[in-house]
Amino acid sequence: MKYKNPKYRKKRNTFPLEVSCGNCKTPMVIYAKGSKGNLIKLQVHRIIASAVDLENNEGHLICTNCKEELAWKGSFDGNETYWIIRGKVNSKRLSGY
Ligand SMILES: [Zn+2]
Repeated sequence: MKYKNPKYRKKRNTFPLEVSCGNCKTPMVIYAKGSKGNLIKLQVHRIIASAVDLENNEGHLICTNCKEELAWKGSFDGNETYWIIRGKVNSKRLSGY
């Protein structure tokens, strides 16, 4: 991943997920996920690293390779959050990240 996220706040009982473009399989984000269940959103402070410079990303989350829209920028609990567009991303659990 090209960019480390300066806003990332470490939290206990999370595990790293690699989130990739569902269309071209390019890895886009490493996300610290807190609970089991489907991934529906990416809270920015839980993003460990990303292929996109989130600090300067004004709009939606778009695949750096194929330009597919993957998630919409919004908020959750007052925090900047990308809401995943259903079916647009793949995720897999990473070990030893
Ligand atoms: Zn893509």
